[in-house]
Amino acid sequence: MITSCPVCKKKKFAALYEELSIVKCSCGHVFYNGPLDAEEIREIYGKDYFNGEEYINYVLDKEVIQRNFKERLKRVIKYSSKGELLEIGSAYGFFLDLAKESFNTTGFEICDDAVQYANNKLNLNVHCGDFLKEEVNQDFYDVACMYDCIEHLVNPEDFVEKINASLKKGGILVITTGDINRFIPRIRKSKWRLIHPPSHIHYFSKKTLCMLLERYGFKILSVKYPGIWRSNSVLLGTLFGSNLFTRNFPGYFWINTFDIIEVISRKI
Ligand SMILES: [Zn+2]
Repeated sequence: MITSCPVCKKKKFAALYEELSIVKCSCGHVFYNGPLDAEEIREIYGKDYFNGEEYINYVLDKEVIQRNFKERLKRVIKYSSKGELLEIGSAYGFFLDLAKESFNTTGFEICDDAVQYANNKLNLNVHCGDFLKEEVNQDFYDVACMYDCIEHLVNPEDFVEKINASLKKGGILVITTGDINRFIPRIRKSKWRLIHPPSHIHYFSKKTLCMLLERYGFKILSVKYPGIWRSNSVLLGTLFGSNLFTRNFPGYFWINTFDIIEVISRKI
């Protein structure tokens, strides 16, 4: 169980969605406050995580995922365009595969199957393991990225602190995650598509994510709610079950739900 709020360190919280053990701190941060078993959490991120559980079939969806990552990379390059780039939660390496055109890249990922793919098929440098336990270069990286990752971490503040130490002064940190303070989560409440503990533990908002970053030595440069490309096959797979997905329907569409936040910050 989490005993103190990662954003403000207070230790008292009010129930928000009681049936899901989700609480809200007085600073506004929302998180899952039920039991967290390290072994159980590790099991979530087995091969099935990217094949039928959180994602329907991540590798088959590569083309669309990379279309989204190209947009994300363009926004990174506005602030930093070369040097060393670190990605935490790099999955199958689809972002690093694009970023390596401009940067020397390093990834950290806990799903072994995804790491094998990234290293063997895409020829990347991805470490399998817990970023907090690994030895990481200090004052070394120009850019660090955490895409759709921070909501999964038990103690995101420790990651932000360690990332700060690993970046050079002036280095850039990019984070994307759901924003629980936006229109859709406000009307959907506990049925919001991104509420699923214990896979998603932390539910940030613009305010709480910026507070966390500022607390650990970052200056906010940009806050955006970008749309994404989704493939028709993923949409159909979500509606009718994953078997249909393997038929690989062609085409994709653009959607913006305005509840995915991207914060770009700089180490000061
Ligand atoms: Zn708090």
